[in-house]
Amino acid sequence: MENKKPVDPTSFDYPRFKEDMVKTHTILIPNMLTIHMDLFEQVLLQQGYKVEIMHNEGPNVVTEGLKYVHNDTCYPALLVIGQFIDNLNHRDDLDKVVLLITQTGGGCRASNYLHLLRKALIQAGYGYIPVVSLNMSNLEKDSGFKYTPKLVFKLVAALTYGDELMYLRNKCQTYEINKGDTKALTDKWIKKLSDDLKNGHGTSYRDIKKNLNQMAIDFDNLELDLSHKKPKVGIVGEIYIKYAALGNNHLEDFLVSQDAEVMVPGLYGFMLYCFYNNIYDYEIYGKNKKMARISKLILWYIKRRETLMRKSMQNTKFTPMNYFSYTKDLSDGVLDHGTKMGEGWLLTAEMMELIEEGYENIICAQPFGCLPNHICGKGVMKKIKSIHKDANIVAIDYDPSATKVNQENRIKLMLAIAKERIKEDDKVEL
Ligand code: SF4
Repeated sequence: MENKKPVDPTSFDYPRFKEDMVKTHTILIPNMLTIHMDLFEQVLLQQGYKVEIMHNEGPNVVTEGLKYVHNDTCYPALLVIGQFIDNLNHRDDLDKVVLLITQTGGGCRASNYLHLLRKALIQAGYGYIPVVSLNMSNLEKDSGFKYTPKLVFKLVAALTYGDELMYLRNKCQTYEINKGDTKALTDKWIKKLSDDLKNGHGTSYRDIKKNLNQMAIDFDNLELDLSHKKPKVGIVGEIYIKYAALGNNHLEDFLVSQDAEVMVPGLYGFMLYCFYNNIYDYEIYGKNKKMARISKLILWYIKRRETLMRKSMQNTKFTPMNYFSYTKDLSDGVLDHGTKMGEGWLLTAEMMELIEEGYENIICAQPFGCLPNHICGKGVMKKIKSIHKDANIVAIDYDPSATKVNQENRIKLMLAIAKERIKEDDKVEL
């Protein structure tokens, strides 16, 4: 390709995203959660960034990933890097793009994705393209991408909307009487919130409260057929594979097509898990006291948003989601909070929570190369089943060679058991 330029791989002077590029360069972002990403995009646009969420899929993504990432690397890394390179292969504005990658900054391999991506870009001839790391651990200090308090507050507002919208959509879509109603209402809300965020509105406490209340009322008014109970299926697993349709072969769509009610825990859980771990690290190991204090403050701040979400549903037919402070304790007796590589104890806590909420059928989405999630997912299933006898959990592996048919057949077996267990007079509880 004539647009590709060789870069010395031994050079550590990687290209930076500088402040003067903010207005001229488009930031490419991998798609993980459709609703949330649409809202985050508007926040970034409002802050003056040019942004594009990548939606390219298909075999080329895996092929490019396999070409430039070692095949024993985690599958999410392979997919994200493959998606970037496939996207670049089809662009003609290569001198005006920047790639953005999110990192947790924890002990897991996700903290190395940035370097894997840079290495892959050099090999693919795109080493001159800057990469931005979006992380909560200050991993990149010289980036033109600025984490201002204003930006963070706005992203938190978008996250609150995204979690509630995803929750309500999941509650309704399987029971809708008029096909497409739930999607249309979800899209209507994405549009309304996007317009608000793009124009700098919708982020104050009052606005969030008003929007969440109206959102819950709108979904409560959808026409649903609640005469027959359907299998309730929860999805847990490694964060990318759990949420990204590209990673899990459109798992949510498949489950809905099989007449199942799907529940995917919100993104707040993972974010709060990361902050809670800072507090745990200080209390148990005497680590960073300042970070523990900041994390406590953030947990308090987010709890106020959680309260708004819960209250918005109090006069509707929907069971409100639990507080993080409640969910976190559910892993007690199964897995200690010291287990925090990858999704760590949160994965276990989410399985326990889903079972408590009636989603006793669980798919644990496990990517190839992910040891932490095999331990906190597959590794605790026996123990969970000994506590909850009705738990119907299946671990599904996702890797470049796994076939969709094979994955779906295993899920169908799990659903067959779930359907058998439903009794004629079982009531639907949303
Ligand atoms: S959680 Fe698993 S898939 Fe994600 S970086 Fe860690 S090892 Fe890799």
